[in-house]
Amino acid sequence: MWSVTVIDRDDAHYYQPGFLFIPFGFTTIEKITRKKSKFLPKDVEFIISEVERIDAEGSVVILADGRKINKSGVISTKELYEIFPGGPAKKAARIAGLPKPVGCV
Ligand SMILES: Cc1cc2nc3c(=O)[nH]c(=O)nc-3n(C[C@H](O)[C@H](O)[C@H](O)COP(=O)(O)OP(=O)(O)OC[C@H]3O[C@@H](n4cnc5c(N)ncnc54)[C@H](O)[C@@H]3O)c2cc1C
Repeated sequence: MWSVTVIDRDDAHYYQPGFLFIPFGFTTIEKITRKKSKFLPKDVEFIISEVERIDAEGSVVILADGRKINKSGVISTKELYEIFPGGPAKKAARIAGLPKPVGCV
């Protein structure tokens, strides 16, 4: 079974184009701020933490508090199509940093 983890240093999502209107009093920072977590599907794990370092070769994300987030690197073609239905699997795998899928569904 696949899983997705999102890591961010905070839960504040800013509608950045709105920044242009703040100095002129057309909007406020409160009005253009939402919670990132509200945009994520419930199955997605959301970790709020500063990322210290990414060890690309070892496929590990090292957080500021010392936690290490690994990725399994093992995913079947069937699971890949479940994550990216209708999408080109090879390109999707490359973007997601997953091994190139082999075989057919
Ligand atoms: C004034 C303004 C107007 C804009 N207008 C438009 C527009 O009209 N149309 C348009 O298409 N685009 C617009 N953009 C651009 C658009 O908002 C950005 O291109 C887009 O937000 C970039 O997305 P991103 O995910 O690459 O980066 P971001 O949205 O900046 O996301 C990066 C995330 O990484 C997190 N992060 C960074 N470092 C760490 C770390 N070490 N540990 C943990 N988390 C970390 C941050 O907290 C942040 O949530 C505008 C931008 C600005 C500033």
